[in-house]
Amino acid sequence: MAADTRITRVSEAAYRMRHHALNMGEAQGQGYVGQALGAADMLAAVYADQLNYRADDPQWSERDRFLLSTGHYAIGLYAALAEAGIVDVDELATYGSDDSRLPMSGMASYTPGMEISGGSLGHGLTVAVGMALALRHQGNTARVINFLSDGELDEGSTWEAAMGASHHGLSNLIAMVDINALQADGPTAGVLRTEPVADKWAACGWHVQRVDGNDVAALLTAFDQVSADKPSVILCDTRIGRGVALLENREKAHFMRIDADEWQICRDQLTAGYEGVPA
Ligand SMILES: [Mg+2]
Repeated sequence: MAADTRITRVSEAAYRMRHHALNMGEAQGQGYVGQALGAADMLAAVYADQLNYRADDPQWSERDRFLLSTGHYAIGLYAALAEAGIVDVDELATYGSDDSRLPMSGMASYTPGMEISGGSLGHGLTVAVGMALALRHQGNTARVINFLSDGELDEGSTWEAAMGASHHGLSNLIAMVDINALQADGPTAGVLRTEPVADKWAACGWHVQRVDGNDVAALLTAFDQVSADKPSVILCDTRIGRGVALLENREKAHFMRIDADEWQICRDQLTAGYEGVPA
């Protein structure tokens, strides 16, 4: 497929996913909307370009496994699952409601296509390593893609898993880190300094790339250049609230409460700022 066609397809998916996230957030009046907007390009690259799956059979044994370590990003993943045809768009309106299959924090037992119940934070990569080992043992060529946050780099379990993955030469494992420079308690640089992040992953034996995580072309190039003989990490610098100026500049960005009259402003800003062809 021509590169520009591929970029357009993923960009359009990300645009629709951002609208889905705003609509879900409005249903509750609040939520982890900023993360969904910030990570939409990463998730779109995965679901609209990389992941091998069957929408009508989420448990297909040969599927690539996408593990959302950050359970609170579920709103972003639901948008991706809708885009992928695994969840109906209409169902997104139930987000966070009683009896919904789409709870605020991701639950594997509730949602088709949700591989793990992420958060407690810092455990997704450990599960991913186990899955990647098991798949290789079974002769299954499926890949494991683990999405984690920069806040999770504070966790010792993440680095134990990182060392284990390279020790076992898990070339079927890709980690994506959403570096939005923010975590629940404040800016990551103030909570616990984790830079130089790329050097740390390299020291653990990983193939390392660092890209603008809101640049679809850069994300796709990074996926094209993952290692064939060791685990790969794509460090993605993103902006929380990306695409909606009102939210990009909000001080309390980790868990957003958005006034009733602001949601349409958010949608209008997203639409106005979109440079592609809205579907
Ligand atoms: Mg963060």
